[in-house]
Amino acid sequence: MENKCPFCGGKEGVWRGYRHNLSSVKRMRLCKSCGRKFTPDDGFLRMRFGKEDILYAVSLYRKGLSTSEVVKRMKRRGVSISRWTVILWWRKFGDYGKR
Ligand SMILES: [Zn+2]
Repeated sequence: MENKCPFCGGKEGVWRGYRHNLSSVKRMRLCKSCGRKFTPDDGFLRMRFGKEDILYAVSLYRKGLSTSEVVKRMKRRGVSISRWTVILWWRKFGDYGKR
């Protein structure tokens, strides 16, 4: 995990509080050099997907592709997800558009 401050590059920091978003809770870090708060990049920072991306993944899975195939196709599209994410989306949005 990268704990370097994205603003000033300082490595000195303390854990300070949490940031909540729709899918998860992130720990916040307070930089000692510049005093700004940031969330260290643990690879999930860009886990914000558009409805289109989600529905595209779900439609691929519905077509019978395996989860790893869906992950590969999404990667080609510039969207990085895990196989577990495919399952979660399928459970959540699998019925979308069927009714
Ligand atoms: Zn800083």
